[in-house]
Amino acid sequence: MTDAPTYGFDTLQIHAGAKPDPATGARQTPIYQSTAYVFRDAEHAAALFNLQEVGFIYSRLTNPTVAVLQERLATLEGGVGAVCCSSGHAAQIMALFPLMAPGCNVVASTRLYGGTITQFSQTIKRFGWSAKFVDTDDLDAVNAAIDENTRAVFCESIANPGGYVTDIRALADITDGAGIPLIVDNTSATPYLCKPIDHGATLVVHSTTKYLTGNGTVTGGCVVDSGNFDWSANDKFPSLSAPEDAYHGLKFHETFGPLAYTFHSIAIGLRDLGMTMNPQGAHYTLMGVETLSLRMQKHCENAEKIAAWLENDSRVDYVTYAGLPSSPYYERAQACYPKGTGGLFTFAVKGGYEACIKLVDALEIFSHVANLGDTRSLIIHSASTTHRQLSPEQQEAAGAGPNVVRISIGIEDADDLIRDLDQALAKACG
Ligand SMILES: *Cc1c(COP(=O)(O)O)cnc(C)c1O
Repeated sequence: MTDAPTYGFDTLQIHAGAKPDPATGARQTPIYQSTAYVFRDAEHAAALFNLQEVGFIYSRLTNPTVAVLQERLATLEGGVGAVCCSSGHAAQIMALFPLMAPGCNVVASTRLYGGTITQFSQTIKRFGWSAKFVDTDDLDAVNAAIDENTRAVFCESIANPGGYVTDIRALADITDGAGIPLIVDNTSATPYLCKPIDHGATLVVHSTTKYLTGNGTVTGGCVVDSGNFDWSANDKFPSLSAPEDAYHGLKFHETFGPLAYTFHSIAIGLRDLGMTMNPQGAHYTLMGVETLSLRMQKHCENAEKIAAWLENDSRVDYVTYAGLPSSPYYERAQACYPKGTGGLFTFAVKGGYEACIKLVDALEIFSHVANLGDTRSLIIHSASTTHRQLSPEQQEAAGAGPNVVRISIGIEDADDLIRDLDQALAKACG
């Protein structure tokens, strides 16, 4: 489908990037389980290695099944290109890699997935990178945190956990003014509920492990490039604007224009970091993406019902779901995320830490797991699991205090889920 943008979301989630297999006519995208691809001749091989011709060399860099998923996600997000990788966390490193150098920093929201806070506050220091965490509702603080070594601002569209939604446009106005890219983790919203590029984001990252695959089968990640950023406007991004020794002085931006970032991510990022998505993984994710809109509608519908039920229950202190009129983010959510605010939220249980532990053990339909965005409903007590490595202050800032559980509402019958929560709350608070 070459004229893809004229089609609607439901059509694109099935067709974008794919066509019947030219060799066999297979209608579904085959799993190209091959490490290497035969060159037509020595000249063809040389052209591929010089990046003068696009094609398949070796599956650490490119694979036909993964390429279909890349094109599909780029299309759904409204970007010009995408690179898939082995996990969401790999995608975050891949997203920063072309931008950063030792001494550079990223300004990041305090409201991020727990693992991302750990990755940014600890692990990236080993590359000589650093992160400055700010409350992204405080636009003055965001502006103040950006210095001459800042190479990006990073946030989540719908933050996990905590019922927080980001005003992406407000942040994009700041990054545009500073001449740096805005990176949005769109895992919890998915392009069905929000397209960050439409709101001014430069790059979108995903943990495809979650809603995009949708049923808890494989880990994966993706970086989508809007193609809108001028990498040569200043000297902050030499990986993209300056000559690259490994390719005989080729300048990515000058040579590939709006596709510079995507080409760099494949030709340098995947080549040398090797965080590659495998074709089996891409296949499972492609299967999931075909039904994304249907699932997201049901996730949102169920979450709205269940959040409202919990909010009215005397055993519950509060519910943080941006789809509830009581949420401080309700108005923003209605404006920026009109199709719904997803299936993820947290609630606080009267009885604190102990009651939360009893609750997760007493549930029958909900599974106690460290995952989200599955067809089945999931629950986790963040303070004793995913957010365990964080300080109490960081836990509170991330909306994951000791009395809080996070749930990822699946696509089962809402009434069954409510009955399950009811019986488990009785045991927890009994
Ligand atoms: C799960 C998740 C990640 C990390 O993704 P993995 O695939 O587990 O590496 C990053 N951001 C968000 C919002 C997530 O939910």
